[in-house]
Order: sequence, then C-alpha cells, then structure tokens
Amino acid sequence: MSTFQAPKGTYDLTPPRSATFLAVREAISAPLRDSGYGYIETPGFENVELFARGVGESTDIVTKEMYTLTTKGGDQLALRPEGTASVLRAALEANLHKAGNLPVKLWYSGSYYRYERPQAGRYRHFSQVGAEAIGTEDPALDAELIILADQAYRSLGLRRFRILLNSLGDKECRPVYREALQTFLRDLDLDEETRRRIEINPLRVLDDKRADVQKQLTDAPKLRDYLCDACKAYHEEVRALLTAAGVAFEDDEKLVRGLDYYTRTTFEFVHDGLGSQSAVGGGGRYDGLSEMIGGPELPSVGWALGVDRTVLALEAESVELDLPATTSVYAVPLGEEARRVLFGVVTELRRAGIAADFAFGGRGLKGAMKSANRSGARYTLVAGGRDLAEGVVQLKDMESGEQSAVPLAEAAAELAKRLG
Ligand code: AMP
Repeated sequence: MSTFQAPKGTYDLTPPRSATFLAVREAISAPLRDSGYGYIETPGFENVELFARGVGESTDIVTKEMYTLTTKGGDQLALRPEGTASVLRAALEANLHKAGNLPVKLWYSGSYYRYERPQAGRYRHFSQVGAEAIGTEDPALDAELIILADQAYRSLGLRRFRILLNSLGDKECRPVYREALQTFLRDLDLDEETRRRIEINPLRVLDDKRADVQKQLTDAPKLRDYLCDACKAYHEEVRALLTAAGVAFEDDEKLVRGLDYYTRTTFEFVHDGLGSQSAVGGGGRYDGLSEMIGGPELPSVGWALGVDRTVLALEAESVELDLPATTSVYAVPLGEEARRVLFGVVTELRRAGIAADFAFGGRGLKGAMKSANRSGARYTLVAGGRDLAEGVVQLKDMESGEQSAVPLAEAAAELAKRLG
C-alpha cells in the first residue's frame, strides 16, 4: 500500500466489481437510448451561479454540500452536485430547443460531488445516469420517464423497489399552499434553523425526519387539498398512464425532494434493502427552471438514478448480473518464437472482433494456464517450438477439456467459426 488513500467519502472502482457498475450504467441507459433520448455530456464544473439559481439558494445542496472553488482567473466555479441544471444550461446554449423538435430528449452519465457526511450509500463523489425531456408539458412524458426507470431496474433483476409519487402543484396553486403551510408552521415549537427554513422553503420542513417535529405536523395543511384543477387533472393523467402500463406506485404526499425547482410531478424510487439511504433515484417536472436560469419558458421533466446505490440494491437482493466473460481466447506461448507467432495470432483475432488475451512476461505453462482459467476464456491456444515446427497450435476447449492440433494458418478462422 502507498501512503495515499482515496479522499474521505470516495472510493475507487476496481475489477471485478467495476464491471457491475458499467453494466448498471448500460442497463439504465439502454431503455433511454431505445426511446429517442440522445447522449449529452457537460463539464464536471459550472459557474456557481448556475446551481445557486437553478438548484436553489435555500437547498442543502447549495448552502452546505457544494464544492466551490475560485480559479486563478477569479471565476467562481462549483463541481457539479447534480445534472439537471447543467443539462438544461447546455441545451439552451446549443439552442436545441429551437430546432423545432420538442421535447428535446437527452440522457447523461457521470460523476457528481456533494460535501455530505459519508455513510453507507452516501458519498462525496457518486455516479448518476440521468434523463431530461425538455420543452413539453404532457403527462405522457412524465409517465414515459417513470416507466423507463422502472424498466431499467427490472431489466437488472431488481424487485424490492417502490415508486413514490406526488404532485407539488404549479405557479398558480403552490404559492397559496406555501402561505397556508407557513401560517401553520409559524405556530409550532421549532428550533431556529427550522424556523428559518419555514420562511425560505417551508415544504422542506415536511421532510424533517425528527419524531418530535413529525408529531407536530399531523394536522399540517395538505398540498393535495390545494392543487388547482389543472394540476389535479395533470396528475390524474400521469397516474392513469402508469396504471395502464402496469407500473405500481404509491401516492406519497410528503414527497417534496431536496431541490427547489420541482413543480407538479415528483417521484422517487426507493429500495427496501438499503437502510436509511433508501432512495436509489428520483426526479420530477421542473417547469420553471429554464426561466430561473435566464432561458425561455420550457416545461420539462427528468430523473437521475444513482449508480452506486443501484449496485448496493443489487447486492442487497443478491442479484448476480449475468456478465459474459470478457476474454474468449487466451494464448499461451512456450518460448521466444512461439511468443512472436502467438502474439500475431492474438492481434489477428482482435482485429476480427474476437476478445483475446495473451500470457505476457514469458511465464511457464502452469502459471500461464492459471491466468487462462482466471480470464474466463472459452479457448486457449498453446504453442511451443515443436508445434511450430509442425506448423500447428494446440487449441483447447476450456469447457470440455478437449484439445486438438490446428494448422497455425487456420487457427484464427477456426476460432471464429467455433465462437460463432
Ligand atoms: P438527487 O439528485 O438528490 O435527487 O439524487 C438522485 C439519486 O442520486 C439518489 O436517489 C441517489 O441514488 C443518488 N445520490 C444522491 N446523492 C448521493 C450521495 N451523496 N451518494 C451516493 N448517491 C447519491
């Protein structure tokens, strides 16, 4: 071990576990790629102001968790704590919304940074795959995203997850509710910080995990009773489309989520095997965000699923992903001449699209065969001086144990045939 370790709250992905992470990213993005979502990549950092305005000055993410820095040139930057604000910023900057093809559907995958108290399932560097559908107000779009996330989790073999669904109202009805809630909350027995929160973001108080706070909230006004007719109808349509698609969900009127920009539909995917960090993904509609960051009115909806917690959920359910061996053929040369010849065969195989690896470092037969076994290769090619003199290589089927001599010139073609 060296004197250095990964920074607090971070961890490295190393083989073989790293293969699971890749497979999870692939499984989450596959339904999106099949549904008209195009890939977008944005920088790992943005101007602080984007998140302050976009995510919200009153959120924990912006006030406590953002990694901010001042560059040598004096710019105030922040490592991205989430994806939506950046993706919307990039879409606006590239004028994707003006190409006359709304919604603009985008997916992304990357690293995110939050200065949080590290614990199981909560890290300072984590990984998300996300999707945003920009510029259209249509309950089918909200339903599409929830259905695609459900499909992604199911394709991975996850079963013990639940979908929580709520509507946060819009710019018509939410302010009325907000005021009613504030009036109620101001009369409660709460600490200073929570009192401050009442004035900035009262909905977040409903999210308070403390039992003595929750007890006082029993009679708090319910957003459901304040939703305007348009929001109610919209929400009913989202629910009906999910039900028609056979996607089960639970109505959760306490679900407010930690970001300020959500309107109408909000949802969270929770997994019952993860303890306190149970949210594996979440999202919702953010009809006002574009205007908040200086863009035109662009009603949008999106989600982000956490890759780290999805892997933890797989482990909690003891799901073993069916990851095919990465190497199909492993070549074991015995001696200098064989090394040159078999290295040539390996190159030929790779160029033909066959995954092949090689025993480097001139190791003996025993050690090299151990590596061949460990690689999971279906076939090994072994050759020594005598084989080469006869113009053959030994082709061994690692499953059946059968071995036969194959003319050197035909080795690659024979392997291609056998591997289909
Ligand atoms: P959020 O952007 O807070 O809605 O988070 C969306 C998803 O990202 C969550 O459901 C988690 O799966 C994941 N996530 C958020 N914060 C963290 C973190 N600190 N560590 C690991 N995963 C996280």
